Amino acid sequence: MSTMRKTKIVCTIGPRTETYEMLKTMACRGMNIARLNMSHGDHGWHAQVIHHLKRINRKVGTTVAILLDTKGPEIRTGDVNPDIPLKKGDSLTFTIRREAVLEPHCVEVSYDGFIDDVSVGDTILVDGGMISLEVINKTALDILCRSLDEGLLSSRRHLNIRGKSAALPSITEKDWEDIHFGIAQGVDFIALSFVKTSAAIVELQDYLQARKAKIDVIAKIESADAIPHLAEIIEVADGVMIARGDLGAELPFEEVPHLQEEMARRCRQAGKPVIVATHMLESMIINPTPTRAEVTDITWAVLQEVDCTMLSGETATGKYPLKALEVMDGVARRTEQRQQLDLKVRVEASGKSKPEIARCAAILNNNLQAKAILVFTRRGLMAVLVSGCRPNAPIYAFTNTSHVRRRLAIYWGVQAFIVKFSRAPETTICRALELLTGKNIVAPGDRVIVVSDILAGGRFVETVQVRII
Ligand code: PEP
Repeated sequence: MSTMRKTKIVCTIGPRTETYEMLKTMACRGMNIARLNMSHGDHGWHAQVIHHLKRINRKVGTTVAILLDTKGPEIRTGDVNPDIPLKKGDSLTFTIRREAVLEPHCVEVSYDGFIDDVSVGDTILVDGGMISLEVINKTALDILCRSLDEGLLSSRRHLNIRGKSAALPSITEKDWEDIHFGIAQGVDFIALSFVKTSAAIVELQDYLQARKAKIDVIAKIESADAIPHLAEIIEVADGVMIARGDLGAELPFEEVPHLQEEMARRCRQAGKPVIVATHMLESMIINPTPTRAEVTDITWAVLQEVDCTMLSGETATGKYPLKALEVMDGVARRTEQRQQLDLKVRVEASGKSKPEIARCAAILNNNLQAKAILVFTRRGLMAVLVSGCRPNAPIYAFTNTSHVRRRLAIYWGVQAFIVKFSRAPETTICRALELLTGKNIVAPGDRVIVVSDILAGGRFVETVQVRII
């Protein structure tokens, strides 16, 4: 019986992992959430991947959830042909002129407002810092820069201005098209790129609700402008992604670990799921083994008790996608074995019965060293609340809809199953126990904690029970 990994893994799907067989292998080896990055691929390509994933879940019995990640207001350079070699001190002009042929060392920028956003003295980063350029001068159409590094500028590179966020709307026209596609395809999560305040999240949530789309909205924190608004963003979002790539370009990179720690802590306190993203096993895009620093990075994220860690290029385009998944899985499991979990039980009362019941279940579980916590939940809320307490034992959630089952894939320590809900809760509990014993997850004689309704005098009453199977 292999123990459950509590930290979930998000894998970005790309050309290296697009086939049915590859996706099935990844689902069987621990991918909890498949991320579709709308910066790449067309709707036809994404629809095919979604079709494969749904078929795998049906046929193999896995619970891989689907996360659509919007492109957002990314700023990119235009095409250059050939690539432009830069030495330290070389001049380069970014322009918003739309001319067929530009002079040498001059490159188009995809967004006209770039001219207004940039000031003389700013640093422009290409691909998160692969090349840095200082702004020397600007006109109505051109930004004249001096290269601070040596590098090769190729086509369609991603640009950031150090310390600033572009004055662009968080949800672009392309994003709305992709959101419609996501609704039609029935994805489980939408990650909204470059959010700055809670407004864009609320706008999308209202839009989804009006269309009766049960999709959770994940706020990607990657803008400098988002940092002063973290509290309001975490309060309204259904989850947070710490998008360390762009975050470490818009802000000094030495801020990233501290912001990660802060966001992980705040999300845990608010009971919102949090994903640590980007560069976790970057070297495995070309190498078959990770650097020891990367292993340590995953370990830290697990010790911070985040809900998910994420693979990007490692599984989308890298040479070793399955090895990267295996490494992430192995490092998380090893860390969890040694981890001293800090039970999240607030001293002050919430005044609400469900959070208090969840806490009781977590305390009983830890004090009695129970083997598992079984939670019976139609909407998933009770399982989310128990997960938020970070108890020692795995949480097995039983629900009656596959949407809720997949939605729970993002939460720390929760494995969800479908069970037929009987009018008599005891019948449902017996079905769940049979399912778990059939899978060798629990065995006769084990002590478990059960969070379920019971029927008492014709009324349903919420309970926490200690049972020996
Ligand atoms: C990031 O910048 O860390 C990130 C996750 O964003 P992208 O969608 O560009 O990969």
